[in-house]
Amino acid sequence: MTPLGDSHRSKEVPKTIFRLRGQGGRIISVNQGGGIMKKALVCGAGGFIGSHMVKRLKKEGLWVRGVDLKYPEFAPTVADDFFIGDLRDPQICRYVIDQPFQEIYQFAADMGGAGYVFTGENDANIMHNSGLINLNILEAAHRRNVKRIFYSSSACMYPEYNQKDPDNPNCSEDSAYPANPDSEYGWEKLFSERLYLAFHRNYDMEVRIARYHNIFGPEGTWTGGREKAPAALCRKVAEAKDGGVIEIWGDGKQTRSFLFIDECLEGTLRLTRSDFTGPVNIGSDEMVTINQLADMIIKIAVKRVTIRHIPGPQGVRGRNSDNRLIYEKLGWKPTQPLKTGLEITYSWVEEHVRKSRQS
Ligand code: NAD
Repeated sequence: MTPLGDSHRSKEVPKTIFRLRGQGGRIISVNQGGGIMKKALVCGAGGFIGSHMVKRLKKEGLWVRGVDLKYPEFAPTVADDFFIGDLRDPQICRYVIDQPFQEIYQFAADMGGAGYVFTGENDANIMHNSGLINLNILEAAHRRNVKRIFYSSSACMYPEYNQKDPDNPNCSEDSAYPANPDSEYGWEKLFSERLYLAFHRNYDMEVRIARYHNIFGPEGTWTGGREKAPAALCRKVAEAKDGGVIEIWGDGKQTRSFLFIDECLEGTLRLTRSDFTGPVNIGSDEMVTINQLADMIIKIAVKRVTIRHIPGPQGVRGRNSDNRLIYEKLGWKPTQPLKTGLEITYSWVEEHVRKSRQS
């Protein structure tokens, strides 16, 4: 198949006009034009990326089922079906994968930002829970003869030894081995990448794997301990008084890149519908230090805020998305400036900070 072409995009969103039980007890959805709708399953549809993906797939006219432990926190789901269920349970996986979906997007994972992943306190849960989810989903997808499945891996699987120099990290896809991720979260991602690739080799499943680099945007966790750097810094700046101080873990000289959610979805769909398996980076290559990220947010907020550095979990010293492979294989790479996504995200977080003060 070619990368996402026009045939995959319908300008009008077809409405499901009826659902019926067809042969084999499968749900058949028919659009207004009488055609059979393409069907997708989004695992982790109550989370940040999954809930945005459901919206995007609905805009494209697909019939979408979501599954998660919870509903999306910030907006009602637009999925046609939404199951509340624990994907660590193989029975639940078999129940929700009751038909050969044309596309499965697997975002469900036990995860969070540096405060959750890099303290070591949640290692057993992260490995056990996410490992089980991926094992169960693949088994159920294989049983139902699902042909195409996307898996969301992470740049956290790259070896620590290539990410010690903040100005010159190496995150090219072929630098993954010899493996040495700096967190158990990264090791689980690496294990699961290999698991998906094994199903691809042995069972002819069209597997697509992306290594995401720090995805951010509205409707992501912004407080409570699992939030990631952009949302956490937006919250701190929004909460700070003019002339106030915000705290940053470490010296703030560690480097990262951050990708806005819309570009993440675009890259994910292009990859899933391409003939390239991956793993491939999906991330921005606009590398900044955490201090620079904070300064950008402070400027957007138009506040005078100073930074205080305190001890805390930081992850690797340097990380940036290497976009040569995605561009070579898909003819596409993210291009939106970080500032554009930060402006949108800051105004969303600021509104939530304001509302939480009022309540
Ligand atoms: P998220 O935490 O917002 O979403 C994950 C969802 O999985 C949550 O809604 C959670 O309830 C659900 N889940 C967890 N355990 C479950 C279970 N047992 N059964 C059913 N659902 C369960 O995370 P996200 O930011 O949307 O990330 C989605 C995926 O992308 C994850 O696999 C994550 O590791 C990967 N990823 C994200 C980023 C990022 O910056 N957001 C970066 C790299 C990789």
